[in-house]
Amino acid sequence: MAKYNNIVILTGAGISAESGLATFRDEEGMWNKHRVEDVATIQAFARNPEYVHDFYNEMKKDLIKVEPNAAHLAITELQKNYPAKISVVTQNVDTLHEKAGNENIYHIHGQINQAVCMNCGNVLTTWNDVTTEDVCQQCHVQGMFKPNIVFFGENLLCMNEVDALLRSCDLFVSIGTSGVVFPANTFVRTAKYYNADTIEFNLKATANNYAFDRHVIGKAGETFPKFVEELLQETKAVADI
Ligand code: NAD
Ligand code: ZN
Repeated sequence: MAKYNNIVILTGAGISAESGLATFRDEEGMWNKHRVEDVATIQAFARNPEYVHDFYNEMKKDLIKVEPNAAHLAITELQKNYPAKISVVTQNVDTLHEKAGNENIYHIHGQINQAVCMNCGNVLTTWNDVTTEDVCQQCHVQGMFKPNIVFFGENLLCMNEVDALLRSCDLFVSIGTSGVVFPANTFVRTAKYYNADTIEFNLKATANNYAFDRHVIGKAGETFPKFVEELLQETKAVADI
């Protein structure tokens, strides 16, 4: 018997830091070279779609080269060997969870290798450039693709599924997220309200402090694989009795 039946793992920019990706508030961050108002709002996209496409096409060229780290891989290990439903809810637009072989991934802020047709909703998955020249294969209209990245002022993706997961999970794990970006920063409170155990992995305790039962301080690539090992050992020990 495993201790948990339904695990939700929320991840943020911090889980990708050890893969060499700057976090959001990092001075050197890829986001910080541009003003958010120019590249990550729906108004900016309406004003100058070419500029916004260029920005995400460039980011795509960087992100395709990046490799998952020990924390991403530990999630795969857990999913393969722990007898529970394990879902990954990520704010990251990189696809390091996919590259690590994780399953049941919910990209609430979208993902870099996708574009969505604003005319018909068709989602195109590609690592190639997307431009205003592109024609949608489904509705045959040109110039309607938008990067499938949730811009400020837009609704998050998959929230119904995520909400249901948060209400039914018995373990909520947060890895490398600052706890300041809404609504992901409220997830721990929902999970706690529905009686889940709650654990945070971060370099420091975050603003959501009181809703977590446990804080594991340190680099996720070191702390999280250890935690996974412990969980798997615990399950094995129970099975051996
Ligand atoms: P954030 O930058 O606000 O916070 C990152 C958190 O990770 C911080 O609390 C920091 O202490 C912690 N952290 C840094 N290195 C760590 C490590 N090695 N181990 C454990 N924790 C570590 O990030 P956020 O909360 O995800 O919010 C930023 C927003 O920016 C998100 O919405 C996300 O979509 C976007 N973003 C995405 C990426 C990406 O796709 N990789 C990168 C930057 C920003
Ligand atoms: Zn279309």
